Amino acid sequence: MAQQNSVRIIEVGPRDGLQNISRFVATDRKIDLIRELAACGLKEIQIGGFVHPRAIPQFRDIGQVAAGTLDLEGVTLTALVPNLRGVQDAVACGLRNVVFFFSISRSHNLNNVRRTPEESLSDLKEIWDEIRPRGIHLRVDLATAFGCPFEGRIAVGAILRSVEKTANLGIREITLCDTVGFGNPRLVKEIARACLERFPEVDFGMHFHNTRGLGLANTLAAYQTGIRIFDTALGGLGGCPFAPGASGNTATEDTVFLFEEMDIGTGADLPALLAVARHLEEIFTDIPLTSALSRAGLPRPADFPAAVEGVARKPVDPAL
Ligand code: ZN
Repeated sequence: MAQQNSVRIIEVGPRDGLQNISRFVATDRKIDLIRELAACGLKEIQIGGFVHPRAIPQFRDIGQVAAGTLDLEGVTLTALVPNLRGVQDAVACGLRNVVFFFSISRSHNLNNVRRTPEESLSDLKEIWDEIRPRGIHLRVDLATAFGCPFEGRIAVGAILRSVEKTANLGIREITLCDTVGFGNPRLVKEIARACLERFPEVDFGMHFHNTRGLGLANTLAAYQTGIRIFDTALGGLGGCPFAPGASGNTATEDTVFLFEEMDIGTGADLPALLAVARHLEEIFTDIPLTSALSRAGLPRPADFPAAVEGVARKPVDPAL
């Protein structure tokens, strides 16, 4: 039966996952990973960031990674860009989709990109003016939407104001990011509902980190409110290797499992994803994958009848 409902899964492991790994991952490995992810049916992949190599050395080979993956057919490749220079580099490398980001919280934006949110918005306007006429697609990520490590909870009004300023420029895809894993399902519903009601012209996405184990709960809460775009990373990759217990994005395979079990289409091939996750584990032997599915595997319905038969054959203890 054809699936009536579907979601867009955007794989961010090669960007959000790898940026947290201090050890340099060889360019060929990155290209292989992206190509393997595409072969799993993932239609949108964030391949890295066009950032200064001193800021994130992991992405110093981003041009080569783009060159090694741009021939992938039917796959939208995107990259994170912190400024106009990054956008120009991304476009020069052949990318047609870029993601600009800033934090709703002033302290986090100052800390993260050394800009006030107002300065970031003026950068955004400059970037948009440059690429809009060239047909380059721009998505904007609003970081710390569900809480800030410096300021705590962010008022819904502040989120709406940031969305409004972004949407007023003509941006039609905005992703709300739970940068540090402070979100919970009730908060997600409140924020998602407010955004969807107020800005029906915008496609909203969600970017959850599973830092405190609520990634899938938040994903489901967002879906139930009407969100259909989700960032995920294979294996739950990400988090800081120097912070015990820190975890990365909500895992792609767990998210795909959640939706497919509920008959909501993702376009992704789950067994193939699990095979790539196993491959990841071989590559990053020092970074354990945090996804539930990479540990437990898929349920195997073919085993069920035998198991039931086995139980039935056991003598029943009359005392029970
Ligand atoms: Zn993230």
